[in-house]
Amino acid sequence: MRTSDPAAVMTVRPRTPQGRARAVVDGLRTAYPTIVIPLDHASPFQLLAAIILSAQCTDARVNQVTPALFAYAPDAATMAAAELGEIERLIHSTGFFRAKARSLIGMAQAVVGRFDGQVPGTMEDLVTLPGVGRKTANVILGHGFGVPGIAVDTHVLRLSGRLGLTESSDPVRVERDLCALWPRREWSDASMRLIYHGRAVCVARSPRCGACIFAKFCPSARVPSAPLRRPSQTTR
Ligand code: SF4
Repeated sequence: MRTSDPAAVMTVRPRTPQGRARAVVDGLRTAYPTIVIPLDHASPFQLLAAIILSAQCTDARVNQVTPALFAYAPDAATMAAAELGEIERLIHSTGFFRAKARSLIGMAQAVVGRFDGQVPGTMEDLVTLPGVGRKTANVILGHGFGVPGIAVDTHVLRLSGRLGLTESSDPVRVERDLCALWPRREWSDASMRLIYHGRAVCVARSPRCGACIFAKFCPSARVPSAPLRRPSQTTR
């Protein structure tokens, strides 16, 4: 069943991962119709820099420092030639500023040295950049280049298990499982919406199942005496 009505989504009770996956995509699209990347940026390079800064830091804090950072070093060429101390000063409040400053300059130097100053648009190339893993690469692909990808962060990992979309807790396997369940065109937006839902409703410690549109069919919906289902631990 496909529906754009969240109330109707709540009445269906799909039993299979495939059915749940369809209902989750439909429900997420209805509940979170607008996709907004919370990190301010004007190019794939700036999005990549902002994601590096967002490690162990809030999006709001990153957005406070990036205007000055991007005024000083707006692209890979200027960042690659930037003063390490000046970058550290500009990003100091994001925490881990020394490591992040080295990552920013190292990433920019790699982009200039190996990709002619342009952030590459493939997973294969992106993960060769310092500080860039599959999660970051999928965000860049999806929202910088329009190439579908599923970014598995802590929220996507948690919700995928709770909703019974995967049995794994390994990010690479979860990404593979979700790719198999969701239409390719949905990958980027659905994973971003799952993050929204993880922040707003299905939070880590005390999920608000009573306010969740998936409570009717979620295998982890909290009812008295029913503990949260956890995905089994697996190895690659
Ligand atoms: S019903 Fe509860 S556990 Fe399931 S997705 Fe919603 S908030 Fe999370």
